[in-house]
Amino acid sequence: MKAYSFIKSTKTEETHIFEGDFTTNGCNAENKCICKKVQQSEGTWIVGNICLEQQQAREKAASIGRPVCGDCVSYLYATY
Ligand SMILES: [Zn+2]
Repeated sequence: MKAYSFIKSTKTEETHIFEGDFTTNGCNAENKCICKKVQQSEGTWIVGNICLEQQQAREKAASIGRPVCGDCVSYLYATY
């Protein structure tokens, strides 16, 4: 099972989603977001929106109330 974390870009204010794996302490994440446009160092983690399961990540993306990258979101739905 994959872990999903949300990072808000400090440059564009857009939120992107990072994919990683669950670990004993939480989860890790790849250096670049799903759409590859943003690196971890270019944004800030959104508190409460890290280490989510796929379904949780979909719900967060739908309810987050700020712009979420469409390419990253569509990936959450493309894996079925
Ligand atoms: Zn993105």
